[in-house]
Amino acid sequence: MSILHIAVDGPAGSGKSTVAKIIAERLKITYLDTGAMYRAITFAALTAAIDLYDAQALKTIVDKIDLKINPTAIYVDGVDVTEAIRTPEVTQNVSVVSMDPYVRAEMVNMQRKIASGQSVIMDGRDIGTVVLPDANYKFFLVADPVERAKRRLIELKAKGFNTSLEALTDEIVKRDALDSGREVSPLRKASGAIEIDTTFKTIEEVVAFIIDAIKEKE
Ligand code: C5P
Repeated sequence: MSILHIAVDGPAGSGKSTVAKIIAERLKITYLDTGAMYRAITFAALTAAIDLYDAQALKTIVDKIDLKINPTAIYVDGVDVTEAIRTPEVTQNVSVVSMDPYVRAEMVNMQRKIASGQSVIMDGRDIGTVVLPDANYKFFLVADPVERAKRRLIELKAKGFNTSLEALTDEIVKRDALDSGREVSPLRKASGAIEIDTTFKTIEEVVAFIIDAIKEKE
């Protein structure tokens, strides 16, 4: 089989990571969660207690960090931070860190290196537009903000975090605005991307739709 690059973009909570992970397993290709990479940098910046708007301080963090990622875990300087990057504190700050052009350039380089020479499904905000503009397939997942907040609420409650649907809806709308409004690589539907509204769809329905779309052309 020739190399297959699949881009899955969309706003927070639209279901990207969940479906991309399943598709990777079914197609036996590598899964890369690019959001986890921006979260890991944010985690490191918060741990170092730097000003997140200080570009020089962020550059120092990015230049020093030893970031390793595989389909199931992510490590910062040898420490497994897979869970630690999912806290509300990281989520609330990640869009500020991911606006930084140097952070983005370094992450995009890493993402392209991972994709080179192998089949991969990557999920994020700028995969179809910037990271893999020549991807064989591009999908753009959307969903109603309240539905996305409901999904987050279930996830967070399961992990023991106490929050409300209102607070999460607010946070999601704010994060969408920052991710779509930033200057460098804003969240956009790539030209040629297939848009899927996941509001009233099950995970399996979205997975089946994407796999069918791929099979139709292969
Ligand atoms: O996908 P997830 O919600 O974990 O992403 C966390 C944040 O990382 C996003 O809100 C966005 O600010 C940033 N991000 C990005 N570009 C990507 C993936 C994520 O800017 N390709």
